[in-house]
Amino acid sequence: MSEPEIRLPAEGRSQSEVLAQLRQLQQHDVNWHAGKVFSLVFYAGQDVSAIAQQAYGLFFAENALNPSAFPSLRQLETEVIAMTARLLGSSGQVVGNMTSGGTESILMAVKTARDWARASRPRVRHPEIILPATAHPAFEKAAHYFDVKAVHVPVDANFQADVGKLRKAITRNTILLVGSAPAYPHGVIDPIPAIASLAAEHTILCHVDACVGGFFLPFLRSLGHPVPPFDFAVPGVTSMSVDLHKYGYAAKGASVILYRTPELRRHQLFVYTDWPGGIYASPTMTGTRPGGSIAAAWAVMHYLGQSGYERIAAEVMRSTAALRAGIAAIPGMQVVGDPVMSVLAIAHDDLDIYAIGDEMAQRGWHLDRQQSPPSLHMTINVVHTTSLELFLTDLRAATATVQAAGGRRKTALKHAGVRLAARLLPRVLIRRLARRATAGVGGASGGPERSAAMYGMMGALPNRADLNEAVLDIVEQFTLPQDRAAE
Ligand SMILES: *Cc1c(COP(=O)(O)O)cnc(C)c1O
Repeated sequence: MSEPEIRLPAEGRSQSEVLAQLRQLQQHDVNWHAGKVFSLVFYAGQDVSAIAQQAYGLFFAENALNPSAFPSLRQLETEVIAMTARLLGSSGQVVGNMTSGGTESILMAVKTARDWARASRPRVRHPEIILPATAHPAFEKAAHYFDVKAVHVPVDANFQADVGKLRKAITRNTILLVGSAPAYPHGVIDPIPAIASLAAEHTILCHVDACVGGFFLPFLRSLGHPVPPFDFAVPGVTSMSVDLHKYGYAAKGASVILYRTPELRRHQLFVYTDWPGGIYASPTMTGTRPGGSIAAAWAVMHYLGQSGYERIAAEVMRSTAALRAGIAAIPGMQVVGDPVMSVLAIAHDDLDIYAIGDEMAQRGWHLDRQQSPPSLHMTINVVHTTSLELFLTDLRAATATVQAAGGRRKTALKHAGVRLAARLLPRVLIRRLARRATAGVGGASGGPERSAAMYGMMGALPNRADLNEAVLDIVEQFTLPQDRAAE
């Protein structure tokens, strides 16, 4: 292999040349502006992006690692936290911190629970947290990082946390119960009051993951939609995570972790006093923290205000209702469970939903694949107001195409673990996995282009452990320059 070409340029290039190259690279990304993507980007309009970008730019250089150097950031951050806590049922006591995202907020909640248990439940040797199956993988990550055992409990027929099963899973080592408002896969809200009272009954903690719902449900409620209790107004809820970079429309890198009491939050904080560099104190995982994301969150919250968020939520819900009506009108097609807001999954009674996903991808739509049950995921934003008619037209056509191709009756349930899991991966990964799986047996070098066809090649990977290793290989390769990543 030749010497890799990629290195720091010896001489700098012009600003226009650099920016032109960045813009050119962006051309190949998914086109979320056109409303053809249903994940990853939360967008409330050009004006909202503009205020976030300008605020970010103003505080581009500032570092929230040391708030005493930047009283501005300290004020902005405390106001963001207080506004968020107030929206989520705090009557004044709730405290919290800003973090880089939902994952960091959840890591903090689990670490705090662990350290709370070390201090106040010394007989717990091997702490356990109980997760409904639909809880976000960030809890699993936290358990992995902090040496806590994650206990998984199936959800019920409505895709809600099953409180009876949670109760049965509680042991003397249990320190934390988790519920989501809503859970990401199907947009279903867990029965938070029942989970929280179960936790209170056992004097353990209860975290509500409102990462995707925390900046939407309060506005839905004030618009008059029925929203079940899910926040600090529910007794027994001890912590909550809420992402500002989702339906808060802040710049990416903004979430809030909240605790019912300062005593509980204290277990989150970190200080080291013996360092030659001085006394080092830090509330969350990160050291240096970007001032820009704090300023952008504050700016968007002040720019939109209660009425602005309500207006956007109303528009998103109108689109969601229109989509749901259109989906229900396609025979066999349905929304999974009973989602309260604008996050949902669609499934088909008879046809292979992944094949329908392939057909939609051919028409330029980006929908994530899910398992248990096989479904396609949708997060609705205002960009979808203008694309939803076309979406429904294409969904009808895609469904008809799959039907005409012999129906391709839902095969997913017949697939063993790996083959099912393999069908969930983005197509580029499937292609590489398929090549990898067939490389040893003199398989095709190009491979089929359609993912539904590629899955057939996946049988060569015998079990889920192999799949884990194969996916890890790909994760490693993602950070290598493309000419060096083994194809
Ligand atoms: C997005 C999300 C998370 C994780 O947040 P990141 O910002 O991606 O780290 C956790 N829980 C739920 C319910 C989410 O929707």
